[in-house]
Amino acid sequence: MSIHQALKQAYTKDPTHKEYILFILCELLQKDKAWIFLNPDFQIDEKIFFDYVDKFLHGEPFEYLFQKTQFYGLDFFVEKGVLIPRFDSEVLLEKCLEILEHHTFKNILEIGFGSGILSICLAKLKKNHIHACDINKKALELAKKNADFHGVSNKIDFQLCDFKNIQGNFDFIFSNPPYIKNDYPLDKWVQNEPHNALFGGDNGWEILHEIILFAKNQNAKVLACEFGYDQKTILQKLLEENGFKASFYKDYSGFDRAFVAWNLKY
Ligand code: GLN
Repeated sequence: MSIHQALKQAYTKDPTHKEYILFILCELLQKDKAWIFLNPDFQIDEKIFFDYVDKFLHGEPFEYLFQKTQFYGLDFFVEKGVLIPRFDSEVLLEKCLEILEHHTFKNILEIGFGSGILSICLAKLKKNHIHACDINKKALELAKKNADFHGVSNKIDFQLCDFKNIQGNFDFIFSNPPYIKNDYPLDKWVQNEPHNALFGGDNGWEILHEIILFAKNQNAKVLACEFGYDQKTILQKLLEENGFKASFYKDYSGFDRAFVAWNLKY
């Protein structure tokens, strides 16, 4: 079938997602949009194309279909069963980079590494050694694969464990934890991501609260976290109660998204 016919037919399946359908074709053919428009008569295997389009329209995220994404300008492998990296998380990464630029730490810990993006970017850009934990076995395999790809495997100690059980003492802790309210209505694509990487409890901020208590018990100097757009007030209160002074930052869409909290003991 020609590109022209295939796109026409695919667009009728869901005209609101034309752009993604076109992306799927670009990705399958490894051509850009301009090439697609200039070659409408090029013959393609429409079965494969429609199969990808149907999977996408039934809620399979684009990143899971093609098993890759980009974060902070770097390429990463992605797999179903592990949270897809979000552009929003670049704010947290940039704050962590700034902290490491100006301070030194004995032991750094990431809670919930997922695909490994944050620890890998920090290890790559700042040369620090990082401990990182997650409870998801698929995440462990994927994060190790990503770390290998970026040549930083020897700088990150990925562990399959709950942060509450981790051994060691950490003076800089960072995390993009699950923080969405359990009953928040997510679109069908996000619902196909691991729920234990997304949902933080009935309020959403319960795991952030546990992380704050953990950081206090660890006597951590700094805690840096991503959080939900409506959680700044409660987090400010929880951080103050536990001896931290925090600065809050917005993401590039203008939503409150990350904090850096300093332990007042230091
Ligand atoms: N640290 C990973 C990320 O930011 C995973 C986060 C998570 O699973 N909640 O994508």
